[in-house]
Amino acid sequence: EQGHPHPLLSPARYLVLLNPFGGTGKALTLFETHVIPMLTEANAHFTLLVTERPNQARELVQEQDLSTWDAIVVMSGDGLMFEVINGLMERPDWATAIKKPVSILPGGSGNALAASINHYSGHQQVKGTKLLTNCAFILCKGHPAPLDIVSLTTSSQQRIFSFLSLAWGFVSDVDIESEKYRFMGYARFSIGTFIRLTALRSYRGRISYLPAISASENKDTTSNIPGSPNSVNSSSSDNIKTQVLEDSLLVPLDQPVPSHWHTVEDQFVLVLALCQSHLGAEHFTAPMVEGPGEGNIHLFYATSRISRISLIKLFIAMEKGTHLDEEIPHLTHVPVVAFRIEPSESTGIMTVDGEVIQCSPIQGQIHQGLGRVISM
Ligand code: ADP
Ligand code: MG
Repeated sequence: EQGHPHPLLSPARYLVLLNPFGGTGKALTLFETHVIPMLTEANAHFTLLVTERPNQARELVQEQDLSTWDAIVVMSGDGLMFEVINGLMERPDWATAIKKPVSILPGGSGNALAASINHYSGHQQVKGTKLLTNCAFILCKGHPAPLDIVSLTTSSQQRIFSFLSLAWGFVSDVDIESEKYRFMGYARFSIGTFIRLTALRSYRGRISYLPAISASENKDTTSNIPGSPNSVNSSSSDNIKTQVLEDSLLVPLDQPVPSHWHTVEDQFVLVLALCQSHLGAEHFTAPMVEGPGEGNIHLFYATSRISRISLIKLFIAMEKGTHLDEEIPHLTHVPVVAFRIEPSESTGIMTVDGEVIQCSPIQGQIHQGLGRVISM
């Protein structure tokens, strides 16, 4: 791939945030050897900031004069992008700040967003330095596209913003328990999946959701639902000057979900709410997703009646994205726009975009195209 004429008139200015401990700890070397030559070729200017601790990027993004930058580039896994998105949403000017394009360069072990962007751009599914150079090429072209963001609310009223996933059970167990095999790079997920399969766990709880189809049918009526947070928010926040992002599809967590939602109460092996096509470089989990701003959350869940053989088949077929072609018994996939997950016990692991959160009731809804990501 040769140098590409840049669409902007003046050279692009990027703020690059790099986690030196992401993945197997080679992000800085990879940035120097693979990315800098491409940015130089594209006549892009950048400022590199190597993070020294968790949450530094989040705080930095909250304070930055964003007009200095054309995009915020993250060279790490999904965790550092999670910090950036939440940092932008925590600003008083979040509504404009979240429109600042972000860009992902895979430098972690969980590179789901990078793999998804690579896929949307029409590239073959690759990993390692090939995925990195593809993503650097996409950055050099510099086209921002709308990015869906899920607004989550926890039982302690905490607001969390997610661009990728909420996982409970198998997927989050593998992600977090395999941290100790971090030195293996991406292989940690295969090893982790194998270990978890041999000692399968299930968790009791309730999942409720608003299917994407019925949401579009109900569009005109949602604002009339009694007790909708539209009315709750405006009455309780009269004196707050900073507007908050309203979740018009949600009712407070301590109230029952609206009657047109669906509810499943069961013993679950895995629960996953995914917005992008890939859950990892080799996990083509939601092959129906063709872009970063489609407006759907893909809810997957498997009950404890699923067999180990089915789970093994599921994870093998997922590499090529063929796992939904044949029905796998006790695995359900449904596109939704809002959901609520209520674990019966707080002992399991829950993650948002691969980062651990407290395992307790949580709900969320999609905000289609709220953010922007350099894609295509
Ligand atoms: P990986 O995919 O390898 O896990 P992530 O980008 O997800 O990479 O980063 C993992 C965690 O490291 C995130 O929680 C992030 O906040 C944190 N982090 C970022 N910078 C640093 C740093 N300098 N030292 C330690 N942890 C960091
Ligand atoms: Mg991570």
